[in-house]
Amino acid sequence: MLVSIIIPLHNEEENVEDLYASLKSVMDAQTYDYELLFVDDGSTDRTVALLEPFEQRDPKVKLLRFRRNFGKAAAWAAGFDNAAGDVIVTIDGDLQNDPKDIPSLVSLIGEYDVVNGWRKKRQDPFIIRRFPSIIANSLISKVTGVKLRDYGSGLKAYKAEVVKNINVYGELHRFIPALASWYGAKIKEIETTHHPRRRGKSKYGISRTLMVILDMITIKFLQSYSTKPMQAFGPFGLLVGAAGLVINLYLVILWFSGEAIGHRPLLLLGILLVIIGIQLIGLGLLGEMLVSSYHENQRKPLYVLRGPQK
Ligand code: UDP
Ligand code: MG
Repeated sequence: MLVSIIIPLHNEEENVEDLYASLKSVMDAQTYDYELLFVDDGSTDRTVALLEPFEQRDPKVKLLRFRRNFGKAAAWAAGFDNAAGDVIVTIDGDLQNDPKDIPSLVSLIGEYDVVNGWRKKRQDPFIIRRFPSIIANSLISKVTGVKLRDYGSGLKAYKAEVVKNINVYGELHRFIPALASWYGAKIKEIETTHHPRRRGKSKYGISRTLMVILDMITIKFLQSYSTKPMQAFGPFGLLVGAAGLVINLYLVILWFSGEAIGHRPLLLLGILLVIIGIQLIGLGLLGEMLVSSYHENQRKPLYVLRGPQK
């Protein structure tokens, strides 16, 4: 068995050396083989310079260098694309996660497809990080139907085939467990150690939580309606359009019976509702066109890859 460990790094020069040493000491003691995929997410400090000697000296180390800062989701995605392992582990590069937890996560893969590290005693500020995250976690759990206490944890293990088929962009990386579960993956959450950040700076603040909530709406929408946009927009369109028609019909009757209607606000409302109704139905149709052209393209691949050459 090969375990690929993905470590996203953005300006972690003070941590990389200890990080490498502690990953080594834990992983060398295991019976299985491993590789360390350091993903430099556009660091402007000495992160890369400090990692290069490890890359040269240690065949287990791979170093991916981003041209600029693309974010943690992109760093994970690059790691997933380049990982050769049967099991994939992600871990933060700031030593807040403890490499000692990796073996217990890995040991549960097989029985489970995704194992999430729960930072039970999370060592981050309460008001700006832990409190918003409690709310976000319970909201995400409710909305996605996949109950986890720590969606934002950087320490997770996956069966490789599970993540290879999931596309993460933007901040969607923290929803991977939910996405995986919708595809039928079995999820487990176990308690893991969390240390305060001793060196370097956190890259995230409170605004993150707000973004996460918006992303949750995206995810939920994609889950429920991405293959049937008309069902998302159509009902509102019909309802609003029908209400508009009824109002206009009423006004038409009044007009025929000799009453002036040109000055009535109701006329504006009627017209507005009809237009919105048409727009919504149009949006649904447009969505259906996108979905069908997507599937059309999927059926006609431009190229076909050979299977794994091992
Ligand atoms: N990170 C990254 N790209 C970014 C921001 C962060 O690769 O744009 C890395 C960072 O170097 C660290 C991990 O993601 O290894 C977690 O980031 P951080 O410790 O800043 O987040 P926090 O623990 O405060 O949530
Ligand atoms: Mg951190």
